[in-house]
Amino acid sequence: MKYPIDLHTHTIASGHAYTTLLENAKYASEIGLEVLGTTDHAPSMPGAPELWYFGNFKSLPRKIAGVTMLYGCESNIVDYEGDIDLPLEIQEKLDIMIASMHDPVMKPNKDPDINTRAYLNAMDNSNIQIIGHAGNPSFPIHEEALVKKAKEKNILIEINNSSFIRSRIGSEKTCIKLAKLCKENSVKIILNSDAHSCFHIGNFDAAIKVLKSIDMPEELIINTSKDKLFEFLNEKGKIIQDR
Ligand SMILES: [Zn+2]
Ligand SMILES: [Zn+2]
Repeated sequence: MKYPIDLHTHTIASGHAYTTLLENAKYASEIGLEVLGTTDHAPSMPGAPELWYFGNFKSLPRKIAGVTMLYGCESNIVDYEGDIDLPLEIQEKLDIMIASMHDPVMKPNKDPDINTRAYLNAMDNSNIQIIGHAGNPSFPIHEEALVKKAKEKNILIEINNSSFIRSRIGSEKTCIKLAKLCKENSVKIILNSDAHSCFHIGNFDAAIKVLKSIDMPEELIINTSKDKLFEFLNEKGKIIQDR
C-alpha cells in the first residue's frame, strides 16, 4: 500500500459516525493499513464524547488486528484566541491531536485575519501535531501565514479527503494553495480520510488527485512510511512503542 497511514477517523463515539473502534481497526487491517489514528471529536461538538473518553485510552492495546493504533482526538479550536477544548493533562497523554474549526462550535467568520489569528495562536500549543481541514471555505485564511507557522512549529497540514467529496464543499482552492506553499517551503503534509464509517478509511483518492495537480513531492507526504511518521512523532515528543 502506497499510503499505509490514516490518522483522522471517527467512531460511533463521535455521535454522527457509524462504526466502532474494533470495526474500524478490522477494516483497516483488511485493506492493508499499518497505522490507524482514531480521533473522535472533542467535547464541544454536538454528540461528542465526554472528556473521560479521551483520558482512558490506556484500556486499549497498541495493536488491533495487526494495525498500530494511535489514540487521539480531533480537538476544536473554540475561539479566535486559538484555545482548544481539552485540558492540558489529557492533551499530553494522547498519541496524536488534530486541531480543527467546525461550524457548530465556532461561528463562521469571513475575515481571514481573524481565522488566521485563531490558527496561529492554536499552533503555539506543542501538543498539536496536525491542523485539520484548513481549506474549509467557511473559515477563509491567509495561507502563507499558516504554512510559515507550520514550518516554524513542525506541524502537519492536513489534506482532508472528505473535504472534496462529502463535507466543506469548495475546499479545493485553499487546499491547492496550501499544498503549493508546502511544496515551495518544504513543509510536510498528511493525507487523512476523516472517515465517519469504516468504509472510507484509507481512501485518499480525491486528495491525491489534488496533490497530483501540483506535482507534490512524495517526500513531503508523511503517509508514505511508518518510519517517517514515527520520526515526526518523536520530534514532537511522542515515543510510540509498537513492537
Ligand atoms: Zn473536522
Ligand atoms: Zn473529523
